[in-house]
Amino acid sequence: MNPIDRRSFLKISAAGAGAALATNRLLPAQTSAPTAAGPPKPSVLVGMATSVAPLVQSDLDPLLGDMAARAGVNALFPFIYTHVANRAGAPAGGFHGGNYATTHLKYYADTNLTLEDMRGPEFGGVDVLARLLPVARRHGMKTFAWVLEDNVRGPGPRWEALYEVDFHGRRATRHPGGPCNNHPQYRGYLRGLLEDYLRSYEIDGIMWGSERQGGLLNALGAFHNGERTDPGTATCFCEHCLRRAKTEGIDAERARLGFGELEKFVRAGRAGQRPRDGWFVSFWRLLVGWPELLAWESMWVRSRHELQAELYHHVKSINPAMPVGWHLWHNLSFSPFHRAEEDYATLAPFSDFIKPVLYNNCAGERLKSFTDSVGGNVFGDLAPASAMEFMDAALNYREAPYARVSATGLSPDYVQRETRRAVEAMAGTPVQVWSGIDIDTPVGAGSSHCTPESVRQAVRAIFAGGGRGAMLSRNYTEMKPENLAGAGTALRELGFL
Ligand SMILES: [Zn+2]
Repeated sequence: MNPIDRRSFLKISAAGAGAALATNRLLPAQTSAPTAAGPPKPSVLVGMATSVAPLVQSDLDPLLGDMAARAGVNALFPFIYTHVANRAGAPAGGFHGGNYATTHLKYYADTNLTLEDMRGPEFGGVDVLARLLPVARRHGMKTFAWVLEDNVRGPGPRWEALYEVDFHGRRATRHPGGPCNNHPQYRGYLRGLLEDYLRSYEIDGIMWGSERQGGLLNALGAFHNGERTDPGTATCFCEHCLRRAKTEGIDAERARLGFGELEKFVRAGRAGQRPRDGWFVSFWRLLVGWPELLAWESMWVRSRHELQAELYHHVKSINPAMPVGWHLWHNLSFSPFHRAEEDYATLAPFSDFIKPVLYNNCAGERLKSFTDSVGGNVFGDLAPASAMEFMDAALNYREAPYARVSATGLSPDYVQRETRRAVEAMAGTPVQVWSGIDIDTPVGAGSSHCTPESVRQAVRAIFAGGGRGAMLSRNYTEMKPENLAGAGTALRELGFL
């Protein structure tokens, strides 16, 4: 345990009592009481992620009534803060985005962002939480503030100033870059946002997510659609990260040079130029020659964990019983590299629940895309079909071969195995696993599509794997009603409804 880990651990231990309290509020109360119809039904969470658009534009009673009748939804996860148009459910043209509840400026003293930077002007300034909460409560539904970190260009210069800096010194204003974990004003903004939701509204929990990883894996394009990424944009070399590196004794100049060598390696791969000694050997040689690459990656990962721990303890300092959990990027389940650096167990001390993204339908094309991307460098010595065989073995999957995996998607067995892996990592802790499955997340031509039966099987697989909740994802507005009903079928079969 290095000194930083030890400090975090001590802070985390001090808040242990809060974590124990929080678990009492995790599951819906309304399913635990005996009824005239028979014994109490087991409590599970059935969460629904949704854009704010239908929560502003629809009559909420029939909307929530339909979610409950069709799929037993008992918790709502509105994308309450976003600068991404399709997350809000608004047209992309001229979109600004921001907070779709009211922004109370007194909570944002620790950031440079202004009201204009943070307020979502779409939907006529309707306060979505104020509108939603009383109706949700009447329907017996909990409401979680769901904040998915934005990683597209920030809307304006004050936002962009919070973004990472690549090793060439340029601002990384889009994915796989994003706001810097070590930027004190980004952290200040996030603390303020969560405090605002906690103190201004009677919400039932917080879920935060960041779909990013460190510069080493970004340079390799080690994520789906990663082959389009410029390997010269690896991060983060902002003033805050440079200062931190110095404190940790990491040579930033050597890291910069190492990223330059890595950039050449990846560019050669994209050009089809095999290194003299092969792809894998050359990659490993880079790590041996430039261990600062790994040190930089480790610093990035630890920075984000510290940010998460800070948010967790900030919430607990205001309300120890308030559940806090994490949406965990899909890449974590199908990239062996990302999986290695995101051990679920490391999250346990600062989590009440986790939502691993196990979107098994769209996972087929995403896994293929990932394999193609790293097949252009680290796995370049393997034929694509062999690379996929390696992936299946390394990740403990039993899935279709390379040639068919997009067309079949991944199986319910993937959902069960990955839920089980998360549950086992959290064994002995109160952390609950609420796996996310996809219902009609858009896919490309020729890829598999959800059916009522595929959704039914995916939901059953969560509970077969030991999960305590099903997160119906990724957005209510994308879901076909008949496929959503497949979730309800599974929950009724299992005796949860
Ligand atoms: Zn930085």
